[in-house]
Amino acid sequence: MTSGRIVTTPAQLRAAMGGQPVGLVPTMGALHEGHLSLIRQSARDNPLTVVSVFVNPTQFGSATDLAAYPRVLESDAARAFTVGADIIYAPAAEIVYPPGFSTTVTVAALTDRWEGASRPGHFAGVATVVAILLNTVRPARSYFGEKDFQQLAVIRRMHADLLLPGEIIGRPTVRDRDGLALSSRNARLSPDERAAAAAIPQALYTMRDAADAGETDSGRLVARGRMIIDAQPLLTLDYLAIVDEQTLEPLGVLRSGSRALVAVVARDTRLIDNLAIA
Ligand code: AMP
Repeated sequence: MTSGRIVTTPAQLRAAMGGQPVGLVPTMGALHEGHLSLIRQSARDNPLTVVSVFVNPTQFGSATDLAAYPRVLESDAARAFTVGADIIYAPAAEIVYPPGFSTTVTVAALTDRWEGASRPGHFAGVATVVAILLNTVRPARSYFGEKDFQQLAVIRRMHADLLLPGEIIGRPTVRDRDGLALSSRNARLSPDERAAAAAIPQALYTMRDAADAGETDSGRLVARGRMIIDAQPLLTLDYLAIVDEQTLEPLGVLRSGSRALVAVVARDTRLIDNLAIA
């Protein structure tokens, strides 16, 4: 294991960074290969890589979901250091949100639909904490996964609107052998649910293949994908849509920059995924 430091306050972080250009990888911990791919990319691009590990209470809809979120800082740090992280920033909630904290960043329009509709307040929580992290670290580059496609769009918008520091870099989704997007939530699935969840990427790839074969009607493409998910009794579809990758507005007919977005619930576990369709 390469050695690195764990710091918990902005002052410690600034001292540890020593003024070098930094790559920032914001996470909520429970690191998997998806996170590690972001850390590796940052380590390639920047002299110093900071991984923040903060389970952000304001982006959770329920206290139970927040309490159930895995917290494994020591093993996260060991894995992050092994793939090139230099500093883990793991602040307590009182450091990020000191007494009297009163500010929320909301991004309009992009947050109206999809995850925004199903998880009220979620993106305000995400945008606010990412704004705080970007201003704390002032990175040259920050790395986010396309796995959370709407989140990436919201962060890009906020970053541009508020002239936040550095460059936002989106990276491709890392998938399991059967195509399921890696997520810390996958560990909550029963073996049967985990097997059924393979239908999520199957639906997306079937839609992409049909588009590649010439189908351009979104309704027909969505119907193809929906059939694959509906065939799994353990999965309940929340939404499956083809959207413009910039605005996230639904498209009737495919055009370049079309993206399929999907959200599925397996018992009490919410799973999301997306794929470029054209
Ligand atoms: P989280 O810890 O879930 O907040 O995720 C931290 C970062 O890792 C976010 O930018 C996610 O989009 C990204 N991420 C999560 N899962 C994956 C994945 N399977 N592939 C690539 N990036 C991911």
